[in-house]
Amino acid sequence: MILIVPIGTVDGMVTEEIAKFVGSYYPHFGLTVEISDAIPPEPFLKAYNSLRRQFLGRAFLITLSELGRMRNARAVLGITSLDLYEEGLNFIFGLANSRLGAAVISTFRLRPEFYGKLPNRRLFVERAIKEAMHELGHVFGLPHCPKGECVMHFSNSIIDTDIKGPLYCPTCLRKLEKNLGVGR
Ligand SMILES: [Zn+2]
Ligand SMILES: [Zn+2]
Repeated sequence: MILIVPIGTVDGMVTEEIAKFVGSYYPHFGLTVEISDAIPPEPFLKAYNSLRRQFLGRAFLITLSELGRMRNARAVLGITSLDLYEEGLNFIFGLANSRLGAAVISTFRLRPEFYGKLPNRRLFVERAIKEAMHELGHVFGLPHCPKGECVMHFSNSIIDTDIKGPLYCPTCLRKLEKNLGVGR
């Protein structure tokens, strides 16, 4: 089971849209999807860097991993509207750790408004789904993919996210099947 965990106030629709997409895709690998109640953002406030005005991404993964273990989840995906960063990077759309079986994505930079564009719900949701599929791929051991259209392609900017699709390319799909023990 993949557990989806809203952290603090997340646009409820986006959580459900991600759960719907992942839940329609991952049964192929024998995994269902559940949404947990939202968890309070307070434990993560210590990850706040006041100079950067951002939150350290990896701090989220430990708590999420513990929650996943308690719920017997194979993987846990947190969704936050907080802006995340990692050392050496200006920002991150998301982060995953396969050993912890946990990932987190941030919706902060997915809204068209962030880039001075008009609001576009569909585009926002599409981007969130891609980031979710990408980080889950990492949780299940996939590295970045050189193919620009594959969801496992690294997004340096939102342009990369918009170019790629929401699905794994055949090469990544085969790896994923192998890692999750599906098929031959
Ligand atoms: Zn990545
Ligand atoms: Zn690929």
